[in-house]
Amino acid sequence: MQHDVVIVGGAFAGLAAATYLARARRRVCIIDAGRPRNRFAEASHGFLGSDGSAPSSILARARAQLAAYPGATFVAGEAASARVRGNGFAVSLASGEEIVAHKAILAFGLRDELEPIPGLKERWGNTVLHCPYCHGFEFSDRPLGVLFRTPMSVHQACLVAEWGPTTLFLNGADLAPDSAERLTRHGVTIEHGRVTRLVGESSSLSGVAFEDGRVRALAALYVAPQSCLASPIAEQLGVAIDDGPVGPIIRTDADRMTSVPGLYAAGDIARAPHSVSWAVADGVTAGTSLHRALVFGG
Ligand SMILES: Cc1cc2nc3c(=O)[nH]c(=O)nc-3n(C[C@H](O)[C@H](O)[C@H](O)COP(=O)(O)OP(=O)(O)OC[C@H]3O[C@@H](n4cnc5c(N)ncnc54)[C@H](O)[C@@H]3O)c2cc1C
Repeated sequence: MQHDVVIVGGAFAGLAAATYLARARRRVCIIDAGRPRNRFAEASHGFLGSDGSAPSSILARARAQLAAYPGATFVAGEAASARVRGNGFAVSLASGEEIVAHKAILAFGLRDELEPIPGLKERWGNTVLHCPYCHGFEFSDRPLGVLFRTPMSVHQACLVAEWGPTTLFLNGADLAPDSAERLTRHGVTIEHGRVTRLVGESSSLSGVAFEDGRVRALAALYVAPQSCLASPIAEQLGVAIDDGPVGPIIRTDADRMTSVPGLYAAGDIARAPHSVSWAVADGVTAGTSLHRALVFGG
């Protein structure tokens, strides 16, 4: 069956795009591998009407509502590859099955590459965090930390200090003199020692241990991991990709169309910064722009 649209990635951006397309009475096929980026977090914050809900419950509700529209088809699994086919696109599944559509949306998200510090990965999304807007209020006025990775970590530490007393863990890195001055102005403490592990019961955090044996009390640690595209499909289709502050960003225009005509991209892979609300908004933009292109051409 030929679909109007195939969407690779059916989480926040993909489901938002699909909902608008299905409501516009189009046949839309959503391929999803079921690994949204925030799956490690017990609760998602800041998304209007769903503040504090588990990411999985927000997505399950969205999927159930979308499934009520006759145009929506779901494929559970991984899209293995994609190619331009005539005036449309063909996406191959791992099973060998090919999904063919007039237009396509990439919404497959990012994959985070965390620092190999013992205890860090295990706490990701709960007490090791990427964003104080998403997970800051819950740690108000408690001792907070930022792990230095790039000069942007200085900015991150000054921001995190709005939520509680903050330490920047240089972890052996050097700091530019103007950065030290800026940190002091925002009340951020600078710690030079090398971090050897995180300490605490289960996914909670009680401190950071250093090479010299010291342990510093901490309730939450913010990091800015390097991210990469979760799928090679964008490269296979030849889209233009720029370098963003924490990883690649697929280049799109105001309609969220990529450099390949008829191919759109939405969510974390096509923007910075990242949040559920922005991913949903981008999905709506991609879905409605693409629909107008189907109606009016383009
Ligand atoms: C730990 C953590 C906590 C966060 N907490 C919050 C929060 O509290 N509030 C907030 O607003 N934001 C939060 N975020 C940010 C939020 O998770 C992202 O902005 C959001 O998930 C982006 O949505 P997306 O649809 O672009 O991508 P994703 O949610 O990553 O979804 C991409 C989907 O595509 C699928 N996929 C990937 N490759 C393929 C393929 N080849 N074939 C088929 N499917 C594929 C994936 O399995 C996944 O289901 C958090 C992020 C992290 C890392």
